[in-house]
Amino acid sequence: MRFLLFSAIVFGVFYFFYSKLRRFLAQLFQPLNTGTQHAGDSGTKEPGRINKGEMQQCPSCGVYFPTGTGEKSGGVEYCSVSCVEKGKHK
Ligand SMILES: [Zn+2]
Repeated sequence: MRFLLFSAIVFGVFYFFYSKLRRFLAQLFQPLNTGTQHAGDSGTKEPGRINKGEMQQCPSCGVYFPTGTGEKSGGVEYCSVSCVEKGKHK
């Protein structure tokens, strides 16, 4: 009889943690589906989902590109190697 009670408690505790874990995993995999309103869906036409704060403008051709993807030369970041050459010859 004691074993039955013990297993029942273990099962209850296990199920409690299992339900908690499941809710945690659901939040983990669907973080945007809970509580967020779809008020500003007008930005779907914007190219990409890159943060504008991390954009850099090429001083040679004026093209915007994500910071870190360009070619750095003399502390200035260009969009490509050819623009580095152009910037040097300016
Ligand atoms: Zn460029």
